[in-house]
Amino acid sequence: MHRPRRTPTPSDAPGTSGISGTSVRARLRSRIPAGRTRTRLRLTAAAAGLALATGLAATAPTASASPTASPAPPAASRTQQVEYFTPQGHPRHTTVPVATPKSLVSAHRARSAAELAADGDVTSVVRNGPTAKKVDVVVIGDGYTLAQQKDFHADAKAKWAQISAVEPYASNRSLFNVWTVDAVSNQSGVSGDPARNVVKDTALDTRFWCDDIERLLCVDTGKVEKYAAKAPDADLVIVLGNSAKYGGAGYNDITSPVGYDGIATASSDHRDSAQVAVHETGHSLGKLADEYVYDTNGTYTGAEPAAPNITKMSAAQMKAKKAKWYRYLGQNSPDGGKVGAFEGGGYYPRGLNRPTENSIMRTLGREFNLPGRQAMIDGFHRHTGG
Ligand SMILES: [Zn+2]
Repeated sequence: MHRPRRTPTPSDAPGTSGISGTSVRARLRSRIPAGRTRTRLRLTAAAAGLALATGLAATAPTASASPTASPAPPAASRTQQVEYFTPQGHPRHTTVPVATPKSLVSAHRARSAAELAADGDVTSVVRNGPTAKKVDVVVIGDGYTLAQQKDFHADAKAKWAQISAVEPYASNRSLFNVWTVDAVSNQSGVSGDPARNVVKDTALDTRFWCDDIERLLCVDTGKVEKYAAKAPDADLVIVLGNSAKYGGAGYNDITSPVGYDGIATASSDHRDSAQVAVHETGHSLGKLADEYVYDTNGTYTGAEPAAPNITKMSAAQMKAKKAKWYRYLGQNSPDGGKVGAFEGGGYYPRGLNRPTENSIMRTLGREFNLPGRQAMIDGFHRHTGG
């Protein structure tokens, strides 16, 4: 469906040092004059917000945070926040430059007329109804040559089958349309696979070893947006890197003018990478917070987060106020155990509670917990006209 803009995601709520990323961005937004594109604004604000949150020297100039709203920093110095996963399925966050590494840029060769003619083709893979009434998932392939576009379509179907096998997708498959957009690459495979120094000339500059992290599969998000815009109505964007190596990433600070929130990347031929995409849709569709913690973060002292799956309240307080997941307290949860108020979540080991011990928002390969499932279903219906 068409949505005017992104609402603050729950994962924004607690920043890594107690500063709310959402409020930082909201403040910045109010200071930036009209006329700048939203994508640019979001990236700028996200970079500045993260710099504040981490207390590190910003790689992006801080000028955009000043009341005079100086021009946005040059593309070369902008950064994006991404989430990635260790081979054990433990999530982590980091920041990466928006710009594509020079080694990849210099590898680009002009595409042939035949390649250009096929580039950008849109195919309906799953069609359940009009785009305004469905969640439209757009899958874009990278590292597939002209001759491999059929492979890409098969990989996209297989990946959607893996994603939609997870509840609550499985019980709600009819709410989704799935589209592929062909991105024709000069070379097969993606950079950083199998070895770190491998450079491939691909349409979206997908690469492992992003930010020196082997499993972090980065992509040129600007190029992704151009391809996503070719699909009729992108609500959710997944980039498949043509690779059998485990990896993926979630860009959750992106709100595209095209209408989708966030981008998930996944390797095409590693089954576990579908779990990365599912977790990321917990943020984009479910507005769920991460339920994992950084031990060094200490105690959360900020405001009550907006996310439906983390809270400052105890179980008794939720019940008394009829707030957060009070309806589900004491019920069996699909990820095991009963719903309660478990200490730790939203990156903080103390001061915030989560609904269950170990859901997919904490560790990959797990189920959504009961409140998480309901949040996902609510999210699906935000895109289906209610
Ligand atoms: Zn996450």
